[in-house]
Amino acid sequence: MTAPYSLLVLPGDGIGPEVMAEVVKVVDWFQANRGMSFDVSHDLVGGSAYDTHGVPLADETMAKAQQVDAVLLGAVGGPKYDDLDFSLKPERGLLRLRKEMDLFANLRPAQCFDALADFSSLKREVVTGLDILIVRELTSGVYFGEPRGIHDDGNNPENEGGRVGINTQRYTSGEIRRVARSAFELAKRRGNKVCSMEKANVMESGILWREEVQWVHDNEYPDVELSHMYADNGAMQLVRNPRQFDVIVTDNLFGDLLSDAAAMLTGSLGMLPSASLGAPMENGRPKALYEPVHGSAPDIAGQGKANPIACILSFAMALRYSFDQGDAAAELERAVEKVLADGARTADLMGPEGGTPVSTSEMGDRIVAA
Ligand code: ATP
Ligand code: MG
Repeated sequence: MTAPYSLLVLPGDGIGPEVMAEVVKVVDWFQANRGMSFDVSHDLVGGSAYDTHGVPLADETMAKAQQVDAVLLGAVGGPKYDDLDFSLKPERGLLRLRKEMDLFANLRPAQCFDALADFSSLKREVVTGLDILIVRELTSGVYFGEPRGIHDDGNNPENEGGRVGINTQRYTSGEIRRVARSAFELAKRRGNKVCSMEKANVMESGILWREEVQWVHDNEYPDVELSHMYADNGAMQLVRNPRQFDVIVTDNLFGDLLSDAAAMLTGSLGMLPSASLGAPMENGRPKALYEPVHGSAPDIAGQGKANPIACILSFAMALRYSFDQGDAAAELERAVEKVLADGARTADLMGPEGGTPVSTSEMGDRIVAA
């Protein structure tokens, strides 16, 4: 029996609680069958936290999140909360978690399950066996840089409309080095290859990005293969020949775009997991939050239609990156693969040929059985 791993479960809103219920089945299975012990606590985030506490994330929940080995989050938001003040919106709960835990590395795998290869926006031949990982810097760059704002452009006669919108792309070497380290560490456990993407041809922050990633490579990870690519070419290569990549590391803005593009290489939103990692804690493990890429999907909430696989695969990432249980993670991924190969499909995975979809809980049960 291993020491208990502490896990904070935040189901959230919409389909969040439905998909999380299936993850809990999986957690229970690993406890019953693989000698693992999880210390699981449940709490509220987003609209459900607002309904109970009047805020999208209570201070006590925030404090718990800082102490556990991993946080697993379902989804937040819904039309019920549309008219709330900006600071009370469900999404602010998630943003507070990311910010206060300082989760600077966002991991978005794009993995193609063979049974779903025809779901890709690309041809089967291009995506079969695809398994890449995009590491996006999440806490800095143009989304946060100062100065920012929309200003009056004085009475500039050459500016029709008279306003200026400003954002600043700003990266420090320290911010680049720490996310580069995450990427190299991850590559060591995978295909040992990192491709760094920026636009060093037109941006100073891109030049610094390239130099600092190269510095971390030369000084700390000389045995990992490193290449550099301009992000526009990267976008093209991702669609032309995605299997050339193993780990891609890039900034916040380019990572936002590239990870969404990569997601569509594999098919449905209902299949995509993510992790956001911070600095190592005292026990050597990174602070970590795992969540499906999809949102609360209010259109299908409460109907048993949601695909729980994205959330289940997010737990597989927790097994791998927070609990050092890579074998268990692979075992869980194989179970998902098997269930799909056997033909089980939630509604979002139904092709034009149709068929009878399985419900959220049936999909969870089949994965547990597999
Ligand atoms: P957000 O604003 O957080 O992005 P959203 O309301 O836009 O959330 P998403 O969850 O991002 O909704 O997804 C958009 C649509 O994709 C949903 O309305 C739903 O139809 C479908 N979808 C998303 N996740 C799933 C899932 N797990 N299973 C099935 N369908 C899903
Ligand atoms: Mg959306």
